[in-house]
Amino acid sequence: ETTIWWLRRDLRLRDNPALVAAAKRGAVIPVFICDTSVDELGAAAKWRLGLSLADLDARLRALGSHIVYRTGEALEVLDLVIEESGATGVFWNRYYEKRAVERDKAVKSALKEAGVEVQSFNAHLLFEPWEVETKQGGYYKVYSPYWRAVKDRPIADPLAEPAISAPEVWPQSEALKDWDLGAQMRRGADVVAQHVHVGEERATARLGAFVRDRIDDYKDARDFPALPATSGLSENLTYGEISPRSIWHSGVRAREEGKRGAEHFLKELVWREFAWHLLWHEPDLATRNHREGWDDFPWRGDSKAAERWRQGRTGIRFVDAAMRELYVTGTMHNRARMIVASYLTKHMMTDWRVGLAWFEDCLIDWDPASNAMGWQWVAGSGPDAAPYFRVFNPDGQAEKFDKNGDYLNAWIAEGQSDPPATALSYFEAVPKAWGLGAQDSYPEPVVGLKEGRERALAAYGNR
Ligand code: FAD
Repeated sequence: ETTIWWLRRDLRLRDNPALVAAAKRGAVIPVFICDTSVDELGAAAKWRLGLSLADLDARLRALGSHIVYRTGEALEVLDLVIEESGATGVFWNRYYEKRAVERDKAVKSALKEAGVEVQSFNAHLLFEPWEVETKQGGYYKVYSPYWRAVKDRPIADPLAEPAISAPEVWPQSEALKDWDLGAQMRRGADVVAQHVHVGEERATARLGAFVRDRIDDYKDARDFPALPATSGLSENLTYGEISPRSIWHSGVRAREEGKRGAEHFLKELVWREFAWHLLWHEPDLATRNHREGWDDFPWRGDSKAAERWRQGRTGIRFVDAAMRELYVTGTMHNRARMIVASYLTKHMMTDWRVGLAWFEDCLIDWDPASNAMGWQWVAGSGPDAAPYFRVFNPDGQAEKFDKNGDYLNAWIAEGQSDPPATALSYFEAVPKAWGLGAQDSYPEPVVGLKEGRERALAAYGNR
């Protein structure tokens, strides 16, 4: 029997339940469909997805297989591929975002009705979002009890890579390069390309190096943005280049070996689970205030000031360093994400959705669940939110977590006689239309720290 393995965010050969099940039935046809869910991705995520596909395709080709690329709505494409290949089954790994869920439901019932064998699996998460319930039978809105509820649950071992056999008849394929998934990256792609770690092999090596060299100090060092102290694996998890189960079990082994930071690392991985748990139960987490009564909060919409935030020109050095790191590398340190989000939503009193949209466009590790949860947490409107009086002071944070100014100097060229390559690369990456140059003088603050803090406290305190 021939089975279509419908690829989505599971771009790996190891620990891939849909692939294992498909390979058991016989020949496998890997299919990737460019549908509206791909069209609508942010510029960086779309570009990075293309790199991930090319990498997996090369690995499959070495095994006598390849990805079949097709454009169109999922059901129509699958019907055509079934017709062209004689496949009798369609298997995939679930993705838990609202529109994907609705699409998959419709595809599943239509295919089943047509007599096709359909199976879907969990490869994206440690736990199905609906499997974790409070004692009252609801879902968790706060992280700590969620962690306690899941931390001792058994988690199956990762699956080995199966042998893959090719079908007798290959369906037609479009060419990935014709999709031009990097089209919206403007000048940025060449610069960001120097910072990516693409594909299953690099993700696995990254995990190995992290567990070997850095997990011990993780808890103490993870908040210092200039240190390479964290795993960087969010980039790979987003496209499914590595499975959360593989990461979980490596972390557990490190904990057993007495590595000090291992428990904390596992907890962070479970923040990702918690985000998907929330998104599953609150599919509008990225668009609507979670808390009652926040819809009339006097946040400003998009503005010239918000444009300066996007451009890394707020005049607040920690904020600008972080926004430039984002533009150049496609990622941003977690502490920096909290600081730029706090400055935007609190000091600048700007709607969190303005910031969320920019992250969505720029992040190569963009994740609909973690991004939405992160923004609502900082803004104060989210389920497990920061208290309103928690207004990060970017200067204080720099003093605490970047004492020698390594992070600021790495990203802000202005005022340095011999700026490092990182800081200069920002000016190569940004669109010409922004008209920025390393010789410009550094701007005055968009909003002063004291003034912005007082205004935010007054507005938030009134809630
Ligand atoms: P590590 O410190 O090595 O942690 C290991 C893994 O745990 C990460 O890869 C990630 O999967 C998970 N994790 C760690 N911290 C968090 C967290 N706070 N929330 C959820 N999962 C976490 N993460 C994304 O993956 N995509 C996003 O789009 C995203 N947007 C964010 C927006 C805001 C405003 C904030 C405050 C946080 C956001 N995060 C997002 C969470 C976090 O910043 C990143 O997961 C982290 O920086 C990734 O780096 P790392 O892989 O080196 O993490």
